[in-house]
Amino acid sequence: MEEVIVLYPNAGRGHLDSMVELGKLIINHYPSLLVTVVISGPPHEIPTTLTYTQAVSATTPSITFLQLPTVTPPPITSFTEETIISQFFEIAVLNNSNLHNALLNVSKTSKIKALVLDLFCASAFEVSTSLNIPTYFFYTSGASGLCMLLHWPTLVNDTTRDFKAPNTTINIPGVPPIPSEKFPLSAVDRSSKVFRYFEEVGLQMTKSAGIIVNTFDLLEQRALEAARGGKCTSDGSSPPIYCLGPIVKITEDKAEHDCLTWLESQPSNSVLFLCFGSGGVFSAKQTREIAIGLESSGVRFLWVVRDPLPEDGVQSNPTSLESFLPDGFMERTKTRGFIVKSWAPQAAILNHGSVGGLVTHCGWNSILEAVCAGVPMLAWPLYAEQHLNRVLLVEELKVALPVNESENRFVSAHELEMKVRELQNSETGKCLRDKVAILRKEALMATNNGGSSRVALAKLVESFRNGFSN
Ligand code: UDP
Repeated sequence: MEEVIVLYPNAGRGHLDSMVELGKLIINHYPSLLVTVVISGPPHEIPTTLTYTQAVSATTPSITFLQLPTVTPPPITSFTEETIISQFFEIAVLNNSNLHNALLNVSKTSKIKALVLDLFCASAFEVSTSLNIPTYFFYTSGASGLCMLLHWPTLVNDTTRDFKAPNTTINIPGVPPIPSEKFPLSAVDRSSKVFRYFEEVGLQMTKSAGIIVNTFDLLEQRALEAARGGKCTSDGSSPPIYCLGPIVKITEDKAEHDCLTWLESQPSNSVLFLCFGSGGVFSAKQTREIAIGLESSGVRFLWVVRDPLPEDGVQSNPTSLESFLPDGFMERTKTRGFIVKSWAPQAAILNHGSVGGLVTHCGWNSILEAVCAGVPMLAWPLYAEQHLNRVLLVEELKVALPVNESENRFVSAHELEMKVRELQNSETGKCLRDKVAILRKEALMATNNGGSSRVALAKLVESFRNGFSN
C-alpha cells in the first residue's frame, strides 16, 4: 500500500500555502511518500484558491487535495479579532466528522502514516487518535510563538494574575518579558473564547508525536532551547521539535510585474520596500502619515498600499489613491517612488538587488523571506504574535530597527522618517545589513544537504515511517 501523509491546514489561504510548501518539501526529498492536503471551508470555492490547488497538483502530482463538505459555523455578528479567530477553531470542530470519514476513505487505498495539523485544527487530534493515526503539528510561525503556545496552559492555570491589568508583563520561557498590551486583547483576556482555544492547542501540541516549525536552529536558539528543554510546560515535557525551515515560497512570485521592471532602473540596495502582509490595513490618517514620512526621508521606496479602513464609518473611494494620500504626493515622489495597489510579488521584490530594506508587520513568512534575501528590516508589528517576532528581530538577532508607536498605536511621520534614514543611510543600518547577510548564509547552510533542517527532515520522515503513536 502507498504511504501517505495527510496535511490539514486551516481555511485561511496563508496557512494553506505554508502546508503545501511543507508537502512539496517532503515529496522533493522523499518521493516515495504521497501527500494529501485537506481543504476545509468555503475558501476553496474562491477561484484563486482553486486555480492554485489545480496548479500544484499539475506540477506536483504526488500532492492531491481533498475537499471536505462545507460546514456552516454560526455567523459572525461583529468582526473582532476574537470572533474571527474563534471561527477558525469552530470550523475545525464542525469538520471533525467530515474529516473522520475522509480519513477512513483515504485508508481504503493508502496507509496514512501521519496527520499533520495546523494549530487552528487542533480539535482534529481526537479524530486521528480514535483512528490510531500519529498526529503532528505544523506551526507556521517561529519558535518564540511556539514557546508561548506550549506555555499557554501554565498561563491559564496561573489564576492569580490578570493579564489585562495595566503594566502587566508576560514571561514566557525562551522569550524576553513582553508587556501584555502588546498581545491581542483576546489572547490575554481570560474570559475570551480564544484564550481557552489556545490552552487546548498547547495541551494537544504537548501530547503530539512532534511539532514541525518553519524556522532553523541557528535563527532561534534561545526559544528552541526552552521549548526542547521542557521549560515551557509545567511538567517539563516536550514533544520532538523538527525545525525544517526556512520554508519559503519563491517560484510562484517570479511573475512579471511593473514594479520589478521599475526596480531594474534603481541603484543597488537603494529602495525601501513597504509591505504589511495579507492583512495589514491602516486608517487613512496613518496611511497619509506614512506618505509624509517617506517623502521627508528622501529615500527611494516601493510601497504596497491598501484601501484604508473606513474612518468614522466613511469609506474613501477605493479606486483612487489620491483620495487618501497627501495632495500632490504621487507627483512629487514619482521619480523615486513606486506604489502598488493591494498586492505585489514580495519574494521576487526582496530578492531584487535594488531593494535595501523592508518595512514589515513582522509576519513570519515576511521575516523568513527577508532573511533569505539578506534584507534588513524596520519592524512595525500589527497583530497576532508579531510583537514576539519583533523582539526576536530587534533585540536578539539585531537585523531590524523598531518602529515605535505613540498613543493609540499611531506611528508618526517623524518616527518613520528617522527610522527610514537610519536603516538606509547610517552605520547602524550597515551593521544590520551585515548581520542579516550572515543569517542568510546560515539559512542556506541549514537547508543544504547535511544542514540542520535537512537532518531534521530525515528524522521526521523516519518518525513517520516508524509510526510513532500518541
Ligand atoms: N505577500 C505578497 N505580497 C503582498 C503581501 C504579502 O507576496 O503584497 C506574501 C508575503 O510574501 C508572504 C505572505 O504573503 O509570503 C504574508 O505572510 P506573513 O506571514 O508575512 O504575514 P500574514 O499575511 O500571515 O500576516
